[in-house]
Amino acid sequence: MLTTKENASLINLRRDIHRCPELSSHENLTAKRLLEELEQLNPDGLFDQLGVTGTGEKSTGIAACFGEKKRENKTFSKIILFRCELDALPIEETINLAYKSIHQGVSHKCGHDGHMAILMAVATYFSKYRPQGFQVICLFQPAEETGYGAQQVINDPRFSQLNPDMVFSLHNVPGLALGAAFIRTGTLCCASRGLTISYRGKSAHAAQPETGISPVPAIYKTIELLENINKHLEIESTLSFATIVGIKLGDKAFGTAPSRSELYVTLRSDANGVMDKYIQFITQEVKQLSEQFGLEFELNFQDVFAATINTPNAVSLVKAALIEEPVVELDTPFRWSEDFGLFTAKYCGAMFGLGAGLNTPALHDSKYDFPDELIEVGSRYFIKIAEEVMSTNS
Ligand SMILES: [Zn+2]
Ligand SMILES: [Zn+2]
Repeated sequence: MLTTKENASLINLRRDIHRCPELSSHENLTAKRLLEELEQLNPDGLFDQLGVTGTGEKSTGIAACFGEKKRENKTFSKIILFRCELDALPIEETINLAYKSIHQGVSHKCGHDGHMAILMAVATYFSKYRPQGFQVICLFQPAEETGYGAQQVINDPRFSQLNPDMVFSLHNVPGLALGAAFIRTGTLCCASRGLTISYRGKSAHAAQPETGISPVPAIYKTIELLENINKHLEIESTLSFATIVGIKLGDKAFGTAPSRSELYVTLRSDANGVMDKYIQFITQEVKQLSEQFGLEFELNFQDVFAATINTPNAVSLVKAALIEEPVVELDTPFRWSEDFGLFTAKYCGAMFGLGAGLNTPALHDSKYDFPDELIEVGSRYFIKIAEEVMSTNS
């Protein structure tokens, strides 16, 4: 679909981006580089600094639109959006690559560098073959890893003007056959969120603990509740659970009984409804335990991801578009989370996994590197999907 020269320059782009990774919400140079490339493609619409942060500041998203408006009615039959992510991770790269990360402690270990090259390939293609009466939007979204980016883009009034009819995304998945597409109707990626449960009581001399208020009994009971949360709520799901990831309780001070504790938990579920039940249950139980033991409490959420739920129509369309490609229908969702779920909650759409090879290090592993051959494969899949939408709607 693209020339050998174009493919080679997209591989170079991927490696350039890999060399200069930037953390979530700080993707300024990455966005600048992409914007320069996109300007050369002469898109029919180009939006930068897309996205609005919680404090009202502009974000680093970019949307490039390709497609001439129909002269008669000035509307598009369909507006098709493809999304990729801009951010890297706070991980020190531990493989020796010619294009190794120059930023200490930061690297592209989720393959977003590859996703950007794929989307730039799609942009290159549709700049040459402008859709007639349709529009293809390539969205480069910031801050996926922290779960803020999709919401920031959706909150931007300029994005609502783009008003896509269908949205698509892919994620490379190590451990699965190289180049195959993995899809399912309904949940593709689980909902997840980080939760900090804090209890505060009163410290005391360790010789007279009864004069203080220790968070220990409440923490003890909270752990029991979390470990058995499905039993308490009568939920039968192997993909819904709470993982206790850390605990802080008092200090290494043998003369003091503790006053404070923090428990860190990750909640995960393939259903947004179960996630809501978890939060309601935990809030109620923690409040009750605080009252019982005379403690103050606080609950804080972060890294909040809704489940990515694929629309049946969009999945059928992907399968029809990729009829000649290796497509695998998944029995169960992926356990990891993706903020693309916010797009599929609002628009008809689908995400699919793109196999990154059976013996590849996992995502977020310091040795992972996106396989360059997937740039051509991923962009071919997106282009076929766009062309399928156009052929079934013209
Ligand atoms: Zn990631
Ligand atoms: Zn990712």
